[in-house]
Amino acid sequence: MLLFFQSPDTQVWQNDYLQGTGCEMYTESLSPSFTGMTFPEASELCFTKLKLLLLAIEVRGIEAADTKISINPRGAKIQANTQGFFIAQSADEVKRAWYFCKACHEEVKDETLIKKCKCKNLATQQRNYTHDLERRKQ
Ligand SMILES: [Zn+2]
Repeated sequence: MLLFFQSPDTQVWQNDYLQGTGCEMYTESLSPSFTGMTFPEASELCFTKLKLLLLAIEVRGIEAADTKISINPRGAKIQANTQGFFIAQSADEVKRAWYFCKACHEEVKDETLIKKCKCKNLATQQRNYTHDLERRKQ
């Protein structure tokens, strides 16, 4: 999903950056390897390892209406299946955030080699399972 991101919370440099690079904002689910990290940790990992700029996350409340976009939330911990908001050149690039696996990609230096791994099958099942649970609740 491509978003046009204009928020009073968006800092001036971020808007300048967006206009200057021709990059766009994309959303992608953060992989299970991010779960439990703080936002600054996740953001640093995205930048250094995945070469992605993670700007914000979606924070879910108990009610769907409580869901909001949290920009650079310093103290927030990443929950399972959190949507991240990224600055990137393409939707393909941000898929790395979903494919990233601590076990398989810890030593990978080239971010283009971060692709779907075998343990990911398990994670996908877990994701579908969670979706099923959510559907049953509705
Ligand atoms: Zn793996």
